Amino acid sequence: MANSLKINVINIPEEGLKYVLSEDGSRFKEYLADTAEPDFVLLNVDVDCLITKMSATVLIKGKLSAIIESCCCRCLEDVRVSIGGDFNYSLVPATAEAREDVELTAEELEISHYHGDTIDLTSIICEQIILNIPIKTSCREECKGLCAQCGINLNTYSCNCHLDVVDHRMAVLKKFKVKN
Ligand SMILES: [Zn+2]
Ligand SMILES: [Zn+2]
Repeated sequence: MANSLKINVINIPEEGLKYVLSEDGSRFKEYLADTAEPDFVLLNVDVDCLITKMSATVLIKGKLSAIIESCCCRCLEDVRVSIGGDFNYSLVPATAEAREDVELTAEELEISHYHGDTIDLTSIICEQIILNIPIKTSCREECKGLCAQCGINLNTYSCNCHLDVVDHRMAVLKKFKVKN
């Protein structure tokens, strides 16, 4: 059975609450589709964190790892990528928000809010997934990509367009040499 994503602040014990989640991530699909460019598919997500409470402030410190499916930026084939990283959140009750006259320090800008007694981990987990998505994914380091002229996948097929370009260059070079 999947862990609840809602944490009741009152139930966080003094020594902290260990929260572990490992699942296919289907619960996050809707949220991710609303917030991110849906150019990836979430296949698996693992979260391991410790939730502690200092008076009304809730600290969440942990690690996320996920597997996503995206497409290779060079050959456009589907590619699975492992992503992840550490995260740290400080959450204060939303009522403390009404301090607009106070200048926010860099540290305070990292602070999020929770409403009532409940912390919903959905937005935190989704934010971490999005933050860890690489700007470009490629199926392998030596991916040859698609032929710029005929569009063929050069990892599996070969075409003659490339040869033509080389031949043309050679011809130019030969002419140049003759001139000298
Ligand atoms: Zn590729
Ligand atoms: Zn070609």
